[in-house]
Amino acid sequence: MSFPYEAPVSQSLFDRASAVTPGGVNSPVRAFRAVGGTPRFMVSGTGPYLTDADGREYVDLVCSWGPMILGHAHPEVIAAVQEAVARGTSFGTPGAGEVELAEEIVARIEPVEQVRLVSSGTEATMSAIRLARGFTGRPKVIKFAGCYHGHVDALLAAAGSGVATLGLPDTPGVTGAQAGDTIVLPYNDIEAVRAAFAVHPGEIACVITEAAPGNMGVVPPLPGFNQGLKDLCTADGALYISDEVMTGFRVSKAGWYGIDGVRPDLMTFGKVMGGGFPAAAFGGRADVMAHLAPAGPVYQAGTLSGNPIATAAGVAQLRLLDDAAYEKVDAVSAEVRGLVTAALAEEGVAHRVQAAGNMFTVFFTDAEVTDYEAAKAQESFRFTAFFHSMLEQGVYLPPSAFESWFVSTAHDTAAVERIAAALPAAARAAAGATA
Ligand code: PLP
Repeated sequence: MSFPYEAPVSQSLFDRASAVTPGGVNSPVRAFRAVGGTPRFMVSGTGPYLTDADGREYVDLVCSWGPMILGHAHPEVIAAVQEAVARGTSFGTPGAGEVELAEEIVARIEPVEQVRLVSSGTEATMSAIRLARGFTGRPKVIKFAGCYHGHVDALLAAAGSGVATLGLPDTPGVTGAQAGDTIVLPYNDIEAVRAAFAVHPGEIACVITEAAPGNMGVVPPLPGFNQGLKDLCTADGALYISDEVMTGFRVSKAGWYGIDGVRPDLMTFGKVMGGGFPAAAFGGRADVMAHLAPAGPVYQAGTLSGNPIATAAGVAQLRLLDDAAYEKVDAVSAEVRGLVTAALAEEGVAHRVQAAGNMFTVFFTDAEVTDYEAAKAQESFRFTAFFHSMLEQGVYLPPSAFESWFVSTAHDTAAVERIAAALPAAARAAAGATA
């Protein structure tokens, strides 16, 4: 596909970046490999808008992959950061900001009795799994195909087919030993989980799942699936870990737990809780968390964990996220979903908009997507054409058909109107696309 729209400053930055950084980016999906073209180098963000290095403005439907739920450069978050930064940037000692952020989390999410702060979602899931293994004394972990939990070695295991498939390394650099205790099962298949527990009684430390997956596109759990996981874990003495790095503080005050009410033993968080800074967390049952150093023997640490700037941003953002904020984000999400569906239907493009709370994905298929195989079966070449048309018209979508779209409280009528104005041409581009 050709890209008539040029972004010369971004292109020159990308050329420079590619000389000094593998693939020119510090996180792979930013590179536009799935959609082609020049990744946009952003220089500033305000409310629902991003501005790139060529001076073009976009309505942002990525929101930094979730964190910017109040939009960019929210004045109160910026003020909290400025106030904190003026007092120094890192002390390597405990600080009041960490206590405040931990108290915010514990107050919002009832199953979280204790929480430990880290710097990325990857660290949170890695640490939660170590803790689950340390607590139970068991080796094996169940995860689901299409669920992403960061680039933890044991969780990059390939999507195996069939029941109780032993995970194989999905990427060079992960050894069989690191992935060998990972059991990869099809998402939403509770019978596969039951069978895995039957084959490995007393060996499974935990089941880790995205509370409502957004990393194969948005594929919500079927009714009863999360409860079924919890029940199977409880019956076997394994821990149920709900990964809410994406959904936490985004889909409701208490994340996906606030929607489905299934009580995890451990939970992981990131993204929204850091207000755009590197802050993440894992937490849950106090008796399990008591096994963590220095209270207990399971080691976990971090030089910049609970960083004062990150915690100040996170506390400021969470305190602004009241019921009205979630109502607003939900309403914008519903409006944008409706507009996308109307535009694609008008052009006769087979599609399906799937949502989990205010997170959503437009799949280019008319079949229901309940697992990774179904997600991969969509006509993603249509997404590529749709994406580039939206980009040309100043709407920034995730550069992949397998990601969630995100909106914020800052997406006002003007921003939604810009999206609406761009959709007819994008839908036509999708309709005319060829594989
Ligand atoms: N878990 C989930 C559900 C995620 O969506 C992500 C990142 O997208 C992670 C974990 C990893 O978080 P991070 O990128 O902060 O390491």
